[in-house]
Amino acid sequence: STFESMKLKPDLLKGIYGYGFEAPSAIQSRAIMQIISGKDTIAQAQSGTGKTATFTIGILEVIDTKAKDCQALILSPTRELAVQIQNVVKHLGDYMNIHTHACIGGTHLGDDVKKLQQGQQIVSGTPGRVVDIIKRRNLSTRSVKLLVLDEADELFTKGFKEQIYEIYKSLPSSVQVVVVSATLSKEVLEMTNKFTNNPVKILV
Ligand code: AMP
Repeated sequence: STFESMKLKPDLLKGIYGYGFEAPSAIQSRAIMQIISGKDTIAQAQSGTGKTATFTIGILEVIDTKAKDCQALILSPTRELAVQIQNVVKHLGDYMNIHTHACIGGTHLGDDVKKLQQGQQIVSGTPGRVVDIIKRRNLSTRSVKLLVLDEADELFTKGFKEQIYEIYKSLPSSVQVVVVSATLSKEVLEMTNKFTNNPVKILV
C-alpha cells in the first residue's frame, strides 16, 4: 500500500514525506487505518519496524488541531523513549501546528506545568510523571480520545501497572486504546484485557 491510499490530511502527508518516508512499513500498512477507524488495537511489533510512526500517524490524523487540550496520551517505559516519540510527533506533525510535550521524570515539574498551561494536544511520557501531573490537576484528561501503551511488555514488567491503571481510570470511558508490544505473552494479554474493548490484534 501507499501513504496516499490512506487518504490522510494533506499536511500530515507532507510531514510524512518531509521526514523521508516513501512507503509504509508492514505494520504501518496494517495498523494505521485500523487506528484511524477508532477501534482498540493491539499490535505486536518490535523496535525497528516503524511502530512509533504507526501510532503517531494515527494520532495526527484523528486529533483536532484547532482544539488546544490534550487529545492523545502516549505512555512508554523509559524517559529516552518518551522523548524520542515526542520528536517523531514533532517531525511528522511539522506542517500541522502541533503542540506536543514530553512529561518525564528527572525534570522540573514546574516546566511541565508551564508547558501544559499553554495547551499540549499530544503528551508523551513515562507513567510516574504523567500520573503525577494528572493528580495535581496540571493535565486535563477530559478530551483524551486516544491512549497508547508503547512497549507494553516493558511497561507491565517494570512495575508501572498501578500507575497505568490510575491514568486509565482518569480518562473518558470512550477512550480508544492502542497497545504496542514486542511480545504478546499471557501476562501482556491479561493486562491488556483490562484496558481494551474487543481489540483487533495485528501481528507483524
Ligand atoms: P521504530 O520501529 O518506531 O523504532 O522505527 C524504526 C526506524 O524506522 C526509525 O528510524 C524510523 O524513522 C524508521 N521508519 C519508520 N517508518 C518508516 C518508513 N515508512 N519508511 C522509512 N523509514 C521508516
